Amino acid sequence: MIVEPAASTHSGIRPFVRALGPVIGLDLGGTKLAAVVLDDAGRVLRRSWTEHQANGYEAVLDTITTAVGDCERVVGRAVAVGVAVAGLLDRDRSRVTAALNLGFADRPLRDDLAGRLGRPVTLENDANAAALAEHLLGAGAGARSLVLLTLGTGIGGGIVVDGELVRGGRGAAAELGHLPIRPGGDPCGCGGAGCLEVYVSGTALSRLAGGTRTSRHVVAAADRGDRTAVRLLADAGRCLGDGIAMLIPTLDPDVVVLGGGLAHAAAPHLLPPLRERLNATRPFPAQTPGPDVRLSTCGPESGALGAAHLAGAMRFRIPA
Ligand SMILES: [Zn+2]
Repeated sequence: MIVEPAASTHSGIRPFVRALGPVIGLDLGGTKLAAVVLDDAGRVLRRSWTEHQANGYEAVLDTITTAVGDCERVVGRAVAVGVAVAGLLDRDRSRVTAALNLGFADRPLRDDLAGRLGRPVTLENDANAAALAEHLLGAGAGARSLVLLTLGTGIGGGIVVDGELVRGGRGAAAELGHLPIRPGGDPCGCGGAGCLEVYVSGTALSRLAGGTRTSRHVVAAADRGDRTAVRLLADAGRCLGDGIAMLIPTLDPDVVVLGGGLAHAAAPHLLPPLRERLNATRPFPAQTPGPDVRLSTCGPESGALGAAHLAGAMRFRIPA
């Protein structure tokens, strides 16, 4: 059977090749499930969003199986399924080490799903999958070293260097919400202290605003000119600038993509102080240009989109 390479305009990326039928990508968050179906040329056939209440491993297996069935009733049988989950994965992307928002840990989700669905399944962390989508199709197209930060309840991170996701020695790379920007600072759920997400996430903004307002309220107040809210978001922007500056000596990112509803809503308040701080603190300012900081463009289905591309690539990838 002939498998035809898909066109790639990006240097440094191994060619993604055409799958021999539709592929499904799913992004299972704590309460929402996004689904994308791609045809054999990578075109989006269907995208959908649903709320879910899956908690516990069996419920997650059932929810994913049902979502695949829902997609296939519309588009026919898929040849492979990619799943992005909010959680820590092992290096081989077969086990979910911890998915606290989904109520399970240390389970072989990839192989259990493949057994249930009767076809290949790929597994990836949700922010990593989103980073891949932004790299292939979105704000990071053409970047050689891409960093994605998603601002939501917490902070997710993804890194793509020379066209490959950086997964780390044990699978836990790119947990950028846990960059220790304030050593010895406020405690974090990871067991560390002073982590980026302690100061910047939706949860953090609500806490820093006194605990009675959500991050959405803080952004709305800043839009109205509320000085306290404007200051909170400017502080958050400077924390992001510090976190990005920390990455420059190791990754030298040419593009940093900010994703998530909070980043888009608060961009006018976050980005100017972020860029100012980054330019003031990054290393070698006279010798090298700093990263281009941009908002994401793949939308809320970016994780599902990346998962679908991973599924298609895994199924029919040309060996390196
Ligand atoms: Zn942490």
